[in-house]
Amino acid sequence: MMKKPMMIIEGFAGLRESEPFITTAENKKNTKVVIDDWMLGPKNPSNERDANPEYWIALGKAMQVDETEARRRRCSNCEYYDNSTMTQAKMDKIPWNQWDVDAGFRGYCHKFEFVCHDLRSCQAWEEREFEFED
Ligand code: SF4
Repeated sequence: MMKKPMMIIEGFAGLRESEPFITTAENKKNTKVVIDDWMLGPKNPSNERDANPEYWIALGKAMQVDETEARRRRCSNCEYYDNSTMTQAKMDKIPWNQWDVDAGFRGYCHKFEFVCHDLRSCQAWEEREFEFED
């Protein structure tokens, strides 16, 4: 039988239960900072291929890549995104808000310390590293 390759994803292993977590007010404040200063968006995300062209073209310009490449760069494949089960349990304490609506799955952004979403992105996106071992 063929040996299954082991995949190692380098990044955050998730928060521990004892680690402190942001408050709802801090989440709100940090979300606003990322919207205002780091192009967090799009405001109304969509899984549709061509949705929100203005946003993705502008983000691509800021990242010096084309729109197609910008659309591939989501919170969900960013180095700073954490959707581990422990972190999800911590995020459950932050009430649902308008920024959660239709934005996909919640994740925690370790760079800016707020609840981000897998259908969005921002200018600080960094590639997450994948490593495969035999
Ligand atoms: S740094 Fe990464 S995880 Fe954080 S908001 Fe930007 S793209 Fe999303």
